[in-house]
Amino acid sequence: MIRLVKPHIIDTDKEAINRYLKKIMDNENIDPISNFQNNFSKYIGVKYCNAVNSGSSALHLALLSLKVGSGDEVICSTHTCVAILNAISYVGAVPNLVDIKYDVINMNFNIDADKIANEINDKTKAIIVPHMFGVPANIEKIKRYNIPIIEDGTLSLGAKFSNGELVGSAGDVSIFSLHKSKVISADVGGVILTNNERYKTEIDSLLSYGNVGKYTVNYNYTMGELNAVLVNEQLKRIDELIKMRKENADKITKILIKNKNISLPDISNNHIYFRYLVEIPENITAEQVVKKGYEYEIEFGRGVYPALHNYLGLDKKIYTNSEKAQKRIVSIPVYPGLKEKEIEVMCKALLNIIS
Ligand SMILES: *Cc1c(COP(=O)(O)O)cnc(C)c1O
Repeated sequence: MIRLVKPHIIDTDKEAINRYLKKIMDNENIDPISNFQNNFSKYIGVKYCNAVNSGSSALHLALLSLKVGSGDEVICSTHTCVAILNAISYVGAVPNLVDIKYDVINMNFNIDADKIANEINDKTKAIIVPHMFGVPANIEKIKRYNIPIIEDGTLSLGAKFSNGELVGSAGDVSIFSLHKSKVISADVGGVILTNNERYKTEIDSLLSYGNVGKYTVNYNYTMGELNAVLVNEQLKRIDELIKMRKENADKITKILIKNKNISLPDISNNHIYFRYLVEIPENITAEQVVKKGYEYEIEFGRGVYPALHNYLGLDKKIYTNSEKAQKRIVSIPVYPGLKEKEIEVMCKALLNIIS
């Protein structure tokens, strides 16, 4: 079975974990969490970083640090991970969902920045911007609305905006999930970043135990040390991991480009090919392709399914691009470590399925 995602674990990852466990056995004084936080904030180019136990926890803390609460509205793309809807619900806020771009060539299925304008009102407290599938959203345009921005860079860790800065460096607060299905793996984990001292103080306070004096609610969301050791090793290799994705993408393109029934992405350097998304012909649906894929022992994906407006039972007609993407866009395995032979097999399978 060729899975859609697979973490890239090598011997040096194992050795780092063994070294860590040995130090615990020897009762040495070590702090892998601070070490990882420093390395990650340096990598993104943001002042403060807290390592936490999931992307969902990071999103929850991001909303809490911006003081988003009951009755407030949060604008977000509909075409994203349900974790974002969960976090908005944790704080009792109301999601205000926006449709996406549908741009196959640039693999851009990010929030449609022009459509945000109509959704802003007195209750709007934040815009959550997920950078989907390895391609940065139009953050310059979104910044012009002057609403606090939470970037969710999970699927675009290492991708750059057109000004050359990394995804995660533009928001008031940014988060990444480091789950093993994402760009680098902590097994489970996440980070929350900010340049703003006030937000950083709030995040530290939410994460701290044993406040002196007045009781405040705290959250046991800090990352585990073993997770920090693993993801720190992965972070050292991030450039290499992204390069491997791009090389796989090139190989896939070379095979599929001969078939005129599939529309392929053709994108520049500012992306990381977290997903390789293609548009399939109209005579078959993404759902059917995924189902048939299992007969070939290949796990194709649908990018996002279902989108958040589907969970909430909102009018599909408002979200035409997301609806189209859910029907016409198929995600092909492209993870680092995929073998040449596997790429050939799955491309052939896809061509068979759609023909
Ligand atoms: C996976 C994912 C999350 C959730 O992260 P967890 O670590 O699983 O809680 C949040 N946002 C995006 C865009 C994701 O893909």
